Amino acid sequence: MSYPKIELDCAKISLNTQRLIEQLTLKGVTVTPVTKSCLGHPIIANTLINAGATMLADSRVDNIKRMREAGVTVPTLLIRSPMLSQIERVVIDCDISLNTEIAVIQKLSDAAGRCNRIHQIIIMVELGDLREGVMPDNLINLINDVIKLPNITLKGIGTNLTCRYGVEPDDINMQLLSDLAEHIETTFSIRLDIISGGNSGSINWVLAHQGQTRINHLRLGEAIFLGLVPKNQPQISGLSSTAITLTAEVIESSQKPSYPWGKRGVNAFGETISLQNRGQVNQAILALGRQDVCIDGLHPPSGMTIVSSCSDHLMVETPEKMLAVGETVTFGLDYSAFLSAMTSEFVDKVYR
Ligand SMILES: *Cc1c(COP(=O)(O)O)cnc(C)c1O
Repeated sequence: MSYPKIELDCAKISLNTQRLIEQLTLKGVTVTPVTKSCLGHPIIANTLINAGATMLADSRVDNIKRMREAGVTVPTLLIRSPMLSQIERVVIDCDISLNTEIAVIQKLSDAAGRCNRIHQIIIMVELGDLREGVMPDNLINLINDVIKLPNITLKGIGTNLTCRYGVEPDDINMQLLSDLAEHIETTFSIRLDIISGGNSGSINWVLAHQGQTRINHLRLGEAIFLGLVPKNQPQISGLSSTAITLTAEVIESSQKPSYPWGKRGVNAFGETISLQNRGQVNQAILALGRQDVCIDGLHPPSGMTIVSSCSDHLMVETPEKMLAVGETVTFGLDYSAFLSAMTSEFVDKVYR
């Protein structure tokens, strides 16, 4: 066994996917799992497909290419606006992409023509969280240009909320997206297949909503892998939040003073830390640091507190008992810890 190690329990990931698909299907909403946190790992991609996913989404062309090369055949959705420098690869590796810029869509059209393909696009609409999206007032003009472009199909419209400012989906912004879809359809006499209402932060709105809506699609990462939706929202029942764990090894354990001595300046990260003298403590050091994972997103087991971290060391305290050198400790992770650990070369990935 090599540590630190992140473990992904495919059975739990599969159950979460199935439960979300079941519940959201009752609301007429299709789930597209987002694989970016797993870097498009083929084992995860196949787990999601076997659990019922009919399309996979990722923010990186490299991850989508990886899935393609591993034999994944379901349609793929690129969920970050394509870079102009990657247009050709987007057209070759991705079936659909989210877009906001006519300059990009124009180049997608050119590249799709050269490659003899049809590229599908979903136009993202700004609904207040101020990340990607066309302002609603500019949407009709943009689409007027888009539908003239050869080798491009307008697959739908969508939005992204909660990520930047925590703006939540509500009846007002979701109704606006719905209305915009219908307005586009009547203006241009076309049919939009996908009205994508957001990420894991939109699940609660979909489940609670009664009555008509054109929202028929969500892009889900966090809810599938961590069983969680944003903290301030009610959690979805029936999802496992223990599919992903991170385990690290103790390399020093001793009783030490809690208060440093000597003249103090800033630490290695430029931080000045104010603290109180709590006397002697049971301090253990784990071989885990900021180069492995975003420490703020780690949930320690009960009876343990994370006190501080450096690039390669994590200092924890266990008031009840001393840890032993060589002992391992398993943490839960939030989304930022999950993303960072999956991306660190130093963390061993284990798919169970
Ligand atoms: C990452 C991402 C998602 C998935 O978000 P979760 O909160 O993990 O469900 C959906 N859409 C876009 C555009 C994203 O970048």
